[in-house]
Amino acid sequence: MLDKVVIANRGEIALRILRACRELGIKTVAVHSSADRELKHVLLADESVCIGPAPSAQSYLNIPAIIAAAEVTDAEGIHPGYGFLSENADFAERVEQSGFVFIGPKAETIRLMGDKVSAIKAMKQAGIPCVPGSDGPLGEDPDENLRLGREIGYPVIIKAAGGGGGRGMRVVHNEANLLSAISLTKSEAAAAFGNDTVYMEKFLERPRHIEIQVLADQFGNAIHLGERDCSMQRRHQKVVEEAPAPGITDEERRRIGERCAEACRQLGYRGAGTFEFLYENGEFYFIEMNTRVQVEHPVTEMITGVDIVREQLRIAAGEPLSYRQEDIVLRGHAIECRINAEDPVKFIPSPGIVEQYHTPGGPGVRVDSHIYNGYYVPPHYDSMIGKLIVHGDTRETAIARMRTALAEIVIGGIKTNIPLHQDIMNDANFVQGGTNIHYLEKKLELS
Ligand code: ADP
Repeated sequence: MLDKVVIANRGEIALRILRACRELGIKTVAVHSSADRELKHVLLADESVCIGPAPSAQSYLNIPAIIAAAEVTDAEGIHPGYGFLSENADFAERVEQSGFVFIGPKAETIRLMGDKVSAIKAMKQAGIPCVPGSDGPLGEDPDENLRLGREIGYPVIIKAAGGGGGRGMRVVHNEANLLSAISLTKSEAAAAFGNDTVYMEKFLERPRHIEIQVLADQFGNAIHLGERDCSMQRRHQKVVEEAPAPGITDEERRRIGERCAEACRQLGYRGAGTFEFLYENGEFYFIEMNTRVQVEHPVTEMITGVDIVREQLRIAAGEPLSYRQEDIVLRGHAIECRINAEDPVKFIPSPGIVEQYHTPGGPGVRVDSHIYNGYYVPPHYDSMIGKLIVHGDTRETAIARMRTALAEIVIGGIKTNIPLHQDIMNDANFVQGGTNIHYLEKKLELS
């Protein structure tokens, strides 16, 4: 097993990684900005190193400072968490070139998946179903692009190959707007991502977001841990996630899950990963692969009993997967609510001191959060301050438990989106299950 790991992240995921390291007897180094000296995992880590001032660009995204911290503490591996440098292929490469273990896939895999055009091409070759589209970058010939638009059928969506975080996309409803939309998206993509490559896809109007969690080791073993439904979104940001996805049959799960595991084998994938799909009319359409642990990984852990972060660490240490596909059995239902420090109606961030903090409990309740009484939520970072996760034998039980837990939790001194979650847990369509990715935005518009 690894001897010492640098946790190159902050907040709840840094604490989650620290806990997994502790259980495996791995020493931890917290690297943090000057605004994050009081973070829970910084206080708990074996060692800590301040890597720069509050702005992420100078701290959590500062590659030389993170590698220097690994050097001075004589660490063996670096865990990037999610966000920040977790999907930066150059970072993964620098980590390995400097003689450390990057806890994630190979740099070349991250690079392949980071470009959406090359990712889609690799997925098609591996037999993963993709959204009907241009099958590659759009060229300069207007007639050819108009022909493609007609062939795919309107509405279509123009997407930047280098896009991410819901940026670099434009929906086109009719042919008259196609050419201007292509050139606009191209120039925006050039400015935002330094890459003006764009491609075209059919725009699906009422899809659900369903994703498959995979684990793969360096010996060619790959398994899937079933799916998560993350359709409850606002501005392309997930708000509530659950596993399994309502209405997905065992047969559908097995078919798409095995395809994903097989794609991992073909790609030589290593570590934890997620295949994201849009799901409409009983069909899965690949949109992107995330080559890291995801915020919503706990719902999968709750229904499978697999500790995904522990598996990441074991795989990085060169150990084989602890499970075979037949060992994976889904039990019950899990739901996660992302708790943000923000106004529940206007969604304006609400940094400040947490003046009271009481966590809910009881059977099947899990809280992944770095906050504590007196903790100051700094204004510099993402507003997510924790995740409330529940598990029950059935979806009904899980919803009832989430309602109970949301009524119990107390976070004083700052505003949070807990009232929004209470509203969602009491929403008749959510309770029924299977709402599409536009549902929450429409509901918020009407209220
Ligand atoms: P990003 O990397 O920016 O998150 P994605 O490709 O994952 O980009 O797409 C983000 C979101 O945009 C999806 O979750 C979905 O809401 C919407 N989207 C992307 N492609 C399509 C499509 N072909 N049809 C409908 N919606 C889409």
